[in-house]
Parts: sequence; C-alpha cells; structure tokens
Amino acid sequence: MENTNGNGNGSGPKVERKVLTTNQGRPIGDNQNSVTAGRRGPITLDDFQLFEKMAQFNRERVPERVVHAKGTGAHGHFEVTHDITKYTSAKLFAKVGNKCETFARFSTVGGEKGSADTARDPRGFAVKFYTEEGNWDMVGNNTPVFFIRDPLKFGDFIHTQKREPGSNLKSATMMWDFWSLSPESMHQVTILFSDRGIPDGYRFMNGYSSHTFSLINAAGELFYVKWHFKTAQGIKNLLTEKAELLAGSDPDYSQRDMTHAIEKGEFPSWNVKIQVMPESEIDKPNFDPFDLTKVWPHGEYPLIDVGVLTLDRMPDNYFAETEQSAFNPSNVVPGMGYSPDKMLQGRLLSYPDAHRYRIGTNYDLLPINARKNAGANYNRDGSMRFDGNYGSLPSYEPNSFGGPAQDPKYTERPYTTSTTLEKVGRYNHREGNDDYTQPGNLWRLFDDGQKDRTAKAIANSLGQVPVRIQKLQLSHFQKADPDFAARIVKALGTDQHPEYLHAPDAAELAPAARMPEK
Ligand code: NDP
Repeated sequence: MENTNGNGNGSGPKVERKVLTTNQGRPIGDNQNSVTAGRRGPITLDDFQLFEKMAQFNRERVPERVVHAKGTGAHGHFEVTHDITKYTSAKLFAKVGNKCETFARFSTVGGEKGSADTARDPRGFAVKFYTEEGNWDMVGNNTPVFFIRDPLKFGDFIHTQKREPGSNLKSATMMWDFWSLSPESMHQVTILFSDRGIPDGYRFMNGYSSHTFSLINAAGELFYVKWHFKTAQGIKNLLTEKAELLAGSDPDYSQRDMTHAIEKGEFPSWNVKIQVMPESEIDKPNFDPFDLTKVWPHGEYPLIDVGVLTLDRMPDNYFAETEQSAFNPSNVVPGMGYSPDKMLQGRLLSYPDAHRYRIGTNYDLLPINARKNAGANYNRDGSMRFDGNYGSLPSYEPNSFGGPAQDPKYTERPYTTSTTLEKVGRYNHREGNDDYTQPGNLWRLFDDGQKDRTAKAIANSLGQVPVRIQKLQLSHFQKADPDFAARIVKALGTDQHPEYLHAPDAAELAPAARMPEK
C-alpha cells in the first residue's frame, strides 16, 4: 500500500481496501459520526467505537528514553570477512562468509524525542545482531570514549545535559560546572567540541564499542577487545553555522538523510574491526585498559579486520521497530564476555531495567527485540506476555519433566581484573589517573583550522558561564596542551587578561575534584 509520507506523487496503484474493524474485529459501518441522543447530542455511553479510539489514542506514547530519545533505525546484515577464530568461538565468526541479520539505531543523546538531529552531542550507535546463538547487541557511540568512568556519576552527568530544574532551560553553566569539577571528562569534551561533534547525518560517522569487552576462543583463552565500526562513506561533519540553520529548517535531517539514501539504494556500510589485548597484558599499558575515558592507541593495538555491516531497509513502522527496539550491552553470545569496565557494568544493569520501565516486563519478546533462535527458560508471565508463555512446559527447575537444562559448556569464563589481589571497596577513580595526555594527543593531531573551530565552539559555550568556572576549566585545557587553552582564551576575547591562564591550585578546586588525603 502507498505510504503517506508525502514523498510519492499520490497516484499510486489502486488497492482493494479492507473493511474497517474495531480492535476485536467487528466490522464498522460509520467512522465519521459518533452515536448521539438526537442530532445535537449528547453522546451516548454505548458508543464503544468512540471510546476505543479515544482510549487507544490517549495511550499512544510510551515514555521516551531518558537518553538517546531521538533516533533513526534501519535493518541490514553483517558479513564476516576475516577469520578471528583464534580470538572467539562465537558461531557467528566460525567461518568467513557467515552472515546474520541486524537492526541498527542511531541517535542523539541529550535532546527530547522531537529535538533537532544536528545538535552538538555524541551520537548513539547501537546494533543488534540476530545470531543463531541469541542476540548480540553492540550499544556504542560515535566516540571511542565517554565523559565519566564511574556509573555512580551517570545520573549526575546526564542531568547537566538536560534542563535546569527551576527554569526548564538548557544550561551551559550546569555542563561546565560538572565538567570542570570532573577532569576525566576532558577527552570526550575535546571530541564533542571538535569537528566530529556534529556528524553530517548518521552515515558519515564511525561507531565504537567505547567499552572494553572480551572474546574467548575454543581453547578458553580470553582476549580483551574494543570494537570499531569505520564508516565506508568517509567521515563528514557539519560546521556549527550550518548545523544551527538545519536545526531550524530541517530538525529531522539525519532521519531524512538515512531514509532517502536507503530508498535510493545507497546502502551505507561500516567496516568492523577490533583491537585486541591478551588477558596477560592488562597491566602493561600506562593507562587502565578498562577506563572508558581512554582509547587504546592504534600504534600499540592495531585494528584487526572482522567484517562488514550494511544497512539496506528502513522500518515499515517507526514505532514498532525503531521506538520499540531495545538494546542491552548485556546481550552477548557464547565466545564473548564483558570486562571490568565499571561503566559497562553499570550499563549491564541499567539498560534492561530502563527497557522494562519504558516498554514493559516482556519487552524482549517484542518482534524487533525477539531472538531468532529457539530458546526456553523458566521465566513466566508478566504484563503483556504475548507469546505462548511456554504453554504447559514445567515452570521450575530442577524438574524431571523434560524442561530445558543447563549445559556447562556455556558457563562464563572467569576473568582477571588485575594481576594484583585487591580488596572490595570504594576506590577513588581520580587518584593517579592521567586525564590530560590523550585529549592532548587528540588536540595535537588537529590541523590549524580544526584547532581554531574547536576553540571557538568551546568559547561560544564556555563564555556563557561564571568566570570562576571558565578559569577552572581552562586549567584543564592548559594541562592537556597550553596551545589548547591559549586558543580558547583568544576566542573568548579575554587574551588581554593574563589571569585567565592562571591555573587554580588545589585549594580552589571543589572537594569532589580534589585528590584524597593519603
Ligand atoms: P593515531 O594517530 O593512530 O589515531 C588517531 C585517530 O584519531 C585516527 O585514527 C582517527 O580515528 C582519530 N581522528 C583523526 N582525526 C580526528 C579528528 N579530527 N577528530 C577526532 N578523531 C580523529 O593515534 P592514537 O591511536 O594514539 O590516538 C590519538 C588520539 O586520537 C587519541 O588520544 C584519541 O583522542 C583519538 N582517537 C583514537 C582512537 C583509537 O582508538 N586509538 C579512535 C578515535 C580517536 P578513527 O580511525 O577511529 O577515525
């Protein structure tokens, strides 16, 4: 049937129309006039059809995602192009040429469901791989790092990206206040305000697992990995001025770009690669390989080819597929595992929890989220259980009635978190951490033009906040690279005030940013 998005010329083929019915299938004779007592009304209580329509309409919205509310989904497939069986026993990777279906969802992070696609914001990059061993979800971003490294700070950080509680306005002060007191944000802040902070739609950006995950081979050897999805279209970004114009004239720019490209048969693809660190080497690098604010330098951990992800079909229905899609970093398959990355562990818990709240207890039975392989367990019932609920199979275990049984070959492989034995406790994640070298390295690889654009974008935002916050934040840029701070000061128009480059001493920092007493 012809769709109604206004893209066609309206002269589509004549189709035989089905008879309109109620939800329960009763044919409807009049969909224009309510049942009234006489010509003027009132409406009578027996107009079940009116009440069904109104009730359904009132319930059309599910809560929008707290983060990543505005998104674009697309179907596709993944094909293995290189042999990585020395790292993983996952069946998907057993043979070069293996394929599986995928569903990807791209998003902005901070804005509401109707917000503009061209905001300066990280982009979500989530892919569901429907494998024969269950669903594998890669729930990453278009940046290889994140603003924080401890999930205890996640809600605090996201609140700074949302609306100020009193005024309901977005607030640069909230953001820079938090960032200036959380130096671990430096790396992601540098990327955010660089040219890559506003990708030109979703086709021209890379995706990264950001987190460290693991792969386990048939011999039981474990390798820590970072996943990279390199755009085959090349990187393309929007300049701030164009992005701001588009936010007004075409707020759905990225959705439109993906829809049009796929409709024209220009299927976007990404080359999938991994960086690998053997389990025995985790204490070798001079940074914590499980710290989400750090990359693994390419020079030491080169990219290894794995496969190609291609997107070739837009959803038939946005709500059923894109809005109801739910990705969990906890969805991995045998031959894969997690890592000690604290942020990953926070997400393993919070993602399924968020989906249960947003779209219900049985969200993973919705067609877009359902596994494609056979599976069975003892979880039962719950609101909106719309499959057969395992019929009359036993609902407890152990049982002697032939219910599904565990298979020890799938037991998780124990993994090493550190080569030294440490106690359980609240460790200060800022202690001894170098928050400046990697953002400095990034700054130093920018060309002159990008340095100036990045400094200007930062100054435009930082210039709106109290001077004491500006100065504290400048002390971080100064530590990453003196040229970084100097260019921002110039862009702020404060280069005649040398005190702007004075780095506050420890006493000026808020307690949260101070190193603990030994
Ligand atoms: P390399 O020189 O080997 O890598 C630099 C990488 O930076 C490139 O491969 C590219 O990543 C990315 N990059 C290039 N230009 C830009 C840009 N204008 N804005 C943002 N990213 C860009 O050195 P290292 O591996 O030692 O990394 C140096 C710095 O590069 C890091 O501190 C980090 O900030 C950044 N980076 C590193 C990545 C990594 O995984 N090592 C990934 C992305 C950024 P890509 O090929 O993924 O596009």
